[in-house]
Amino acid sequence: MDYDVLILGGGIIGCAVAYELSKYNINIALIEKDYDVANDISFTNAAITYDGSEAKDEYMANLESMGTRLIKEHCQKFNIKYDKIGSLRISQNDANYNTIEYMYKNSKKRGIDGIRILNADEIYEIEPNLKMKVTKALYSENTAVISPYNLVVSYAEVASDNGVNFRLEEEVIDIKNISKGFKVTTNKNKFTCKFVINTIPNENFNDKCCGTMPNRKNNKMKYILLNDKLENSKSTIIINDINKETFVMSIPTSSRRNLIGIKSDDYLGLESELELSKSILEYIKKELIANIFTETYNENSIIIDDSSLNDGYIKVIGNHYAKVTIAPAIAKDIEEKLKISMNMTEKRDYIDKKREIYVFRNMSNEQRNKIIALDKRYGNIICSCNNVSEGEIIDSIRRPLGARTVEGVKRRTGIGLGNCNGASCNMKIIKILAREMNKSVLSIVDDSMDSRILVGRIKEFNEI
Ligand SMILES: Cc1cc2nc3c(=O)[nH]c(=O)nc-3n(C[C@H](O)[C@H](O)[C@H](O)COP(=O)(O)OP(=O)(O)OC[C@H]3O[C@@H](n4cnc5c(N)ncnc54)[C@H](O)[C@@H]3O)c2cc1C
Repeated sequence: MDYDVLILGGGIIGCAVAYELSKYNINIALIEKDYDVANDISFTNAAITYDGSEAKDEYMANLESMGTRLIKEHCQKFNIKYDKIGSLRISQNDANYNTIEYMYKNSKKRGIDGIRILNADEIYEIEPNLKMKVTKALYSENTAVISPYNLVVSYAEVASDNGVNFRLEEEVIDIKNISKGFKVTTNKNKFTCKFVINTIPNENFNDKCCGTMPNRKNNKMKYILLNDKLENSKSTIIINDINKETFVMSIPTSSRRNLIGIKSDDYLGLESELELSKSILEYIKKELIANIFTETYNENSIIIDDSSLNDGYIKVIGNHYAKVTIAPAIAKDIEEKLKISMNMTEKRDYIDKKREIYVFRNMSNEQRNKIIALDKRYGNIICSCNNVSEGEIIDSIRRPLGARTVEGVKRRTGIGLGNCNGASCNMKIIKILAREMNKSVLSIVDDSMDSRILVGRIKEFNEI
């Protein structure tokens, strides 16, 4: 067999599974069709870790509360910012109040601590900047905001350092049972393995091993990222249920910006979306918008289908709005299952540590001078909005599983995500990527194979 375990898909679930299994004496590869891991993570790069109080069923609630515990532990281990800012689901009328009372009772039944129903005085004490009239709110002190991309890249880097073979740019096109294992065919290779863990949510290849879950409706979620000039910005996540189909939420991100999320079945248009957002952020206006994204928001449940466990096949089916939160819990569950069915032993030389990263903007002047003395490229600021240096960009490319695309550099370093939206640094990133990878600038892509940025030269200069 080529591998003991093949993990299909390099999203957060695939990488979390690779991380958990990399501590065992088994031969593992992860197959991902894109240039980079975690390509599907929302570009807003701010994920809420949910505590299970809002989950529709007990199964998802358990996964969320276990996932939240594990994420907190992993953020500490990998030195990732974990902002435990809490959340307020506010109520302005009887229908809202019934919802939050129902959620409160559920969280008590589920044994989730740190959940309270607050009256108006208590709400304004927690969020003094909230100006709208609110009578009650469901408060969770457990909710946090993290950078999901940093978490996935940390899982992948540690797994890679501990021997997991990441096969990027390979697309799985077929899986077949063979005697005592599987044959997995990609667009480039054929591999045999004893065990397959399929984390590809909606695959369109021939998977004869397992069924698929019917997709429920995909909802559209509009995100509006504001710059840091907003007056009276909030420090807690605030969710305002407008009606059964529509809610608006405000998420303070770690870079002191506010992210507004609006879920609605109807097309609203920017003016109406801003009007809805004013219920929470009263000073919001067009001039403060740094970026707008539309993403698909999914309320399916997740199933870890282990019905073919004895044959060596597990499939994670479905999509869910809290998939970042539950990913480490799913990975633990899969680890436990494989421990029994594959009789795995732990590596003696396992290193559960991510290589150091120097983030120039978070350093003191003394630390900056030290690192510039070691490598003067840390003194060359490429992004003046977010203070990102050339040294950090080069490190993001040279690390294990380093960035290969402009988006990969942006997500790893925070460059290009400032108020200029990359207008002044995109070309510089392309040049550094081309130089580091010894490629032509014309071959550098934004994020996927068909996203080349420069179509050609208009004149042949030595430098562009
Ligand atoms: C708008 C939005 C907001 C969100 N907010 C939150 C939040 O606040 N909190 C939270 O916990 N979660 C949140 N999530 C959930 C979370 O970000 C994503 O659902 C999650 O990143 C998906 O992870 P995944 O590993 O299952 O899937 P994916 O990231 O989709 O991973 C699957 C991988 O498989 C690869 N692949 C597909 N087909 C093939 C093939 N044939 N061969 C090889 N590879 C293949 C894909 O390229 C992909 O990398 C949000 C999601 C969205 C859309």
